[in-house]
Amino acid sequence: MDDVARLRNELDRLRIVVDDLQRKRRLLESELAAARSVQEVPRAIISRPDLQQTLSRLVKKVAMIVQAEKCVIMLFDPESGELRVLPPALGLTADQAENFRVKATEGVTGEAFRTGQPIVFNDAVRDARTIKDFVAYLSVRNGITVALVTRRRDEEERVVDERCIGVMHVFNKRLGGEFNDDDQRLLQMLSEQAAAVIANAQLYIKIAEERKQLEDTLQSIQSGVLVVNRSGKVALINAAARQILGVESEDGVNKPVRELIDNDDIVKLVTESLDQDQELAREVTVGAASDRVYQAQTSIMKGENDETHNVVAIFNDITEIRNVERMKTAFVSTVSHELRTPLASIKGFVSTLLADEDEDYDTDTRREFYTIIDQECDRLSRLVQDLLNIARIEEGRGLELHWGTVDVPDLCEKVIAVHKAYTTRHEFSTDFPSDFPTIVADVDRVHQIMENLVSNAVKYSPDGGSVEVKGTVESDTAIRIDVSDEGVGIREDKRELIFERFNRGDDDPQGRVVAGTGIGLYLVKHLAEAHGGDVWLQKTKEGQGSTFTVRLPTIPPDELMEQTG
Ligand code: ADP
Repeated sequence: MDDVARLRNELDRLRIVVDDLQRKRRLLESELAAARSVQEVPRAIISRPDLQQTLSRLVKKVAMIVQAEKCVIMLFDPESGELRVLPPALGLTADQAENFRVKATEGVTGEAFRTGQPIVFNDAVRDARTIKDFVAYLSVRNGITVALVTRRRDEEERVVDERCIGVMHVFNKRLGGEFNDDDQRLLQMLSEQAAAVIANAQLYIKIAEERKQLEDTLQSIQSGVLVVNRSGKVALINAAARQILGVESEDGVNKPVRELIDNDDIVKLVTESLDQDQELAREVTVGAASDRVYQAQTSIMKGENDETHNVVAIFNDITEIRNVERMKTAFVSTVSHELRTPLASIKGFVSTLLADEDEDYDTDTRREFYTIIDQECDRLSRLVQDLLNIARIEEGRGLELHWGTVDVPDLCEKVIAVHKAYTTRHEFSTDFPSDFPTIVADVDRVHQIMENLVSNAVKYSPDGGSVEVKGTVESDTAIRIDVSDEGVGIREDKRELIFERFNRGDDDPQGRVVAGTGIGLYLVKHLAEAHGGDVWLQKTKEGQGSTFTVRLPTIPPDELMEQTG
């Protein structure tokens, strides 16, 4: 061949190479354009469905660009030390995606994750590096694995933080081809954007979830929370605060606090706190009848430049605490009175007897004095006993019971006999069926229950009337005793309250004050419950007397359980 022909041949070969290079350049340009569009993924991804869609678009685009059949993103799970598939994975079934897990120390997955270096493998089945990735089970022939690295940059675009969050695989070059260096470079470029998208989305999801959690917590806490911003508008009001302040569920946010909240004290507290830039605490009353008491506490939320942003007011219901305090104070004064009365009586009679040196009083009168002293001593000791029992219950120690057989009708007769001696205005009667059983109980405690109920029946019927004690056999295992009177009765709204400690009813309708401590029924309830029974007030009308019913098991609760299995 002459020189000219050789040159022509060489020229032709070069032309083919140039053509090929130009074709490759065009291909790369179009691929780059496609790659850039991946970056256009919206950044403000705030929910999981959004993330799924974005990832689905991402894996499809990546697979298209590098001409791969499959594209799988795997994230590192620090708890298990594994890399797991972040669905959706292109080209894998849901099962395959779920089971495709690789330890960070193993396979090409682990290597790319640890070293940050891309790995190309063209014979997955025979390649020793991919054995631990089990890629052969996923029908993988060849592939590229690149690390997903997130980079945080400063204003001058200098990388200040680098973190590998997982890897991205592309598997099986389309049309039976093999992956080359261009594919690898392209994939690496795409992986940077994919990592940024995933990290951003995860961050948004985390923030959104934390925000939701915070909001849910705020909404569910029992204290009322009200947040007011600098311009006096409500920024947040939780469910409890709405209920406390009577604010409709759809109303509230962004309204001026003065318009929204119909309570001068609260508006004043919040605005003063804002104006004075100070945390304040006050007691406020709320409700149409100002019947609920709240401890309101404000705190100031400051921004970065130390300026007041919001004031947060928290409301805690302290109505019960205040009520108990009030009742305790009343209790102390009534107990002192109850203690002083028998003491004064005892002191009076003892002094009289002591002063009677010449024995002017005859034996019968003296005996009467001694009887009164004896009874007053009993009254004192009952009161002290009651107080000790209350202390036991309050300390959670419970009441100790001494079980024995109790003849309830006989016990009731004895209780009534004592009261008969003190009053002529009341008529007492008992009504027990002949088959009324003896029960197993603590005789002293049952006596205490009956004594309290009968003495209340007498005490709260100052005009006299009948006091009836009626027994009923309720079942094989329980009896009931009703104590009825024709006295002042009890208001329906006090039905439950009277069984609470220190709780006393109102004075009777004619304004007569009845002495008492407010612990009798509380004790009766606890004594009955200690036996496995209960006590309640029958339907009553004010002014038409009352009936209290005690139900007691015939045998102790433990034995009853054994019997019924
Ligand atoms: P106390 O009698 O010392 O006040 P209790 O605990 O025995 O305390 O009773 C609580 C309240 O229940 C009483 O203050 C009274 O208002 C009401 N009460 C109890 N028994 C009767 C009754 N038989 N009739 C009317 N009111 C009663």
